[in-house]
Amino acid sequence: MLGLMQDWPLLVHKIIDHAALYHGEREIVTRSVEGPIHRTNYREIALRARKVSAALDRLGIKPGERVATLAWNTWRHLETWYGITGCGAVYHTLNPRLFPDQLVYIANHAEDKVMFFDITFADLVAEIAPKLPKVELYVCLTDAAHLPKAKIPNLVAYEEFIAGASETYEWKEVEENAACGLCYTSGTTGNPKGVLYSHRSNVLHALIAAQKDAQGISSCDSVLPVVPMFHANAWALAFSAPMVGAKLVLPGAKLDGDSICELLTNEDVTLSGAVPTVWLALFQYLEKTGKTLPHLNRVLIGGSACPRSMIESFETKYGVQVIHAWGMTEMSPLGTLGTLKHNVVAMPYEKQLDYKVKQGHPVFGVEMKITDDENNELPRDGKAFGRLKVRGPSIAKGYFRGEGADAFDSEGWFDTGDVATIDAEGYMTITDRSKDVIKSGGEWISSIEIENIAVGHPDVVEAAVIGVRHPKWDERPLLIVVLKPGKTATREQILDYLKGKIAKWWMPDDVQFVAEIPHTATGKIQKTALREQFGSYRLPTAAE
Ligand code: AMP
Repeated sequence: MLGLMQDWPLLVHKIIDHAALYHGEREIVTRSVEGPIHRTNYREIALRARKVSAALDRLGIKPGERVATLAWNTWRHLETWYGITGCGAVYHTLNPRLFPDQLVYIANHAEDKVMFFDITFADLVAEIAPKLPKVELYVCLTDAAHLPKAKIPNLVAYEEFIAGASETYEWKEVEENAACGLCYTSGTTGNPKGVLYSHRSNVLHALIAAQKDAQGISSCDSVLPVVPMFHANAWALAFSAPMVGAKLVLPGAKLDGDSICELLTNEDVTLSGAVPTVWLALFQYLEKTGKTLPHLNRVLIGGSACPRSMIESFETKYGVQVIHAWGMTEMSPLGTLGTLKHNVVAMPYEKQLDYKVKQGHPVFGVEMKITDDENNELPRDGKAFGRLKVRGPSIAKGYFRGEGADAFDSEGWFDTGDVATIDAEGYMTITDRSKDVIKSGGEWISSIEIENIAVGHPDVVEAAVIGVRHPKWDERPLLIVVLKPGKTATREQILDYLKGKIAKWWMPDDVQFVAEIPHTATGKIQKTALREQFGSYRLPTAAE
């Protein structure tokens, strides 16, 4: 017998309609790519999103066709997302930090029909456009006065594109499982793979994200997603904030400490989200200027591991609660969040910190387990570590065009490629990407754990640990360090600092100092590049 409840398809445009109707005056503030601060609200965004839909419809874009965006977080980018999905098409976020050849591969693989882009990327678009035969129209997210001079075919300014279009356009009523968004994973090996979100998965994910023990977001929040919309859906904030009517503050192209601090302060931001490197830059700015964070209440930190020292600084120095989160493009992206469960809240602060550095506990809608290589489930004891596998309604069941099928098993589990432990409380700790695990004498060493401790040294800005070949132990850890400007810590001082904090046999065999550590397009340490860089390096212990 079926239930007698209404069939109300979960469609993304219902989010913006709700925001427009019940939170219509709530502000969307952007540091525009052209320069000035721009202010609008949900009512306006919803009207202009309908114009985008109408303009795309007029152009002949059909449901299911892909429309690319190569853009920073701005109000226009937000309008395009809702406008693209509103006419049944699929928004496809391109990451401008990728190499031009990768962008060409991705846009051709997706068969993007239209490309919306920011003026900052005009030269990049001019470079790749001749290699994108499927793109029929380039829409620059600006007005006619700011239209770039770069040689781009079929170019129109966004404001012109939507000018004559109807703001009473009727959204296309596609079914809730219809595709609505596409984002390619950064893919450290092989070609990038497309994750194809549906309306249903995005709406469910926004509901999941908004929960109190996840983002805990409400209409009283002012939210600054520093995490770009092209990085895993801006961690759901472009959906969860309008869903609850939170104020949105969008940083445009300027993600440096000064610019972010200004927005945090002037726009009364209560919640923000970014990868650790962004917060490092903010800390350096705050230390230099002596400024504080008067309104900020909590920050979401993810994308790569958040060190304990960063959590301590935020919480004890600036009075900002840290929510360490883990997820993936394939998971929409949120998987676990490090909010404190009731029995952890009761613990002394030092003990709470032990939980906060973990990657968190799963939200409802994420099933999670760890297995050995033979797919046997491992105990949830905080010690056993193995392959982390997940399944749920906002997790991919395959990649676009059937690639990477080996990551999905017949029971619906997706192998994340991460190695993790899960403790008795359900808190998960990432120990490594499976490709980065260091195997020493048959045992595994967690590079992430050593890195997290090393960055706690007062002279260290960033640290990376890679496995280096060793004649006796197979692999041994090498610690690569970037020092703060003017700081002079030595190899011995850094190793001394680690003593007692990690097992003896985890101690790196050497420390190398570098001016910079390479990062991927989503801000992660690029271990493949480091392994290449240190390819001919020989450990001092290798002769033993
Ligand atoms: P992306 O799809 O670009 O968001 O990358 C997802 C990957 O980033 C995950 O599989 C992890 O390897 C890594 N990652 C994300 N969040 C964290 C975190 N909090 N700690 C450690 N690694 C993380």
